[in-house]
Amino acid sequence: MYISDSISNTKNVIKEHKSNEKTIGFVPTMGALHEGHLSLIRCAKAHCDIVVVSIYINPTQFNNAEDLSSYPKTLVEDIKKLESVSCDILFTPTDDIMYPEKSYLSISFGELEDVMEGAYRPGHFGGVGQIVTKLFNIVQPNKVFFGQKDFQQLTLIKRLVKEYCFPIEIIGVPITREENGLAMSSRNERLNEYQREEAKIFYDTLLLVKENILSNPLISLDEIKGIANDSLSTSIAKLEYFEVISDTELEIKTENYLEGDTVLCIAGFIGNVRLIDNMYLIL
Ligand code: AMP
Repeated sequence: MYISDSISNTKNVIKEHKSNEKTIGFVPTMGALHEGHLSLIRCAKAHCDIVVVSIYINPTQFNNAEDLSSYPKTLVEDIKKLESVSCDILFTPTDDIMYPEKSYLSISFGELEDVMEGAYRPGHFGGVGQIVTKLFNIVQPNKVFFGQKDFQQLTLIKRLVKEYCFPIEIIGVPITREENGLAMSSRNERLNEYQREEAKIFYDTLLLVKENILSNPLISLDEIKGIANDSLSTSIAKLEYFEVISDTELEIKTENYLEGDTVLCIAGFIGNVRLIDNMYLIL
């Protein structure tokens, strides 16, 4: 695996592969890699000749200083995991490389940011749009692989690519879960064994609400939120939001849940660790 923190060296290696007619798949990450990340890389390997992974904890997408400083860093283990799935190129830039000057530009996603992660993490998606644009320009991939775990992020990036005419295909990869249903996340590293078991309530709540909507499609949004609240209150988890959302426009649904692609989204805390999860109502 070729490893570099230099933009020009990384670009040159990719250019060389492109001149040999190789297709480039890209998986941006913030490291602390787990099976969820590896599933994206395996998917990229299946679709593309050369797979580039970036590991960069992007400060501009954190709206909470403690969340940024406590974000797990496991580069040595990450490299071993990347080698085990035959990743070809690892790009590990520093802040000085990604933000050499004071940064004035941020990307706005308008109304798409008014709900869920956008609403609860002000500025988060501006930072995501900013770093993803930089990385897309550096790597110039054919296809980029994002997890459905970050459902709103995936929707916004598809929109970014379309509106800014990036010649890139965005591919969404299903959520990888622990055996108990908990969605894999780098932040799970910060949970002890008991908390990890309790954290499965997010998945159980999604399943419970899904069953309720499917058996009673006329259920009101208030009733749905009540079910989600009651379910979480049986655990140590604290609910931040539960939303029923349309897949492409991110509009909050209050009826006709079975029409179009509807996604159930949940966010909350176990201790001071913030977790998110989601589930399509009908797959
Ligand atoms: P992160 O390192 O958290 O920024 O995540 C990098 C990529 O991995 C994003 O596209 C995430 O959506 C994806 N990802 C994280 N966790 C999972 C998971 N459990 N299943 C599938 N993809 C995931």
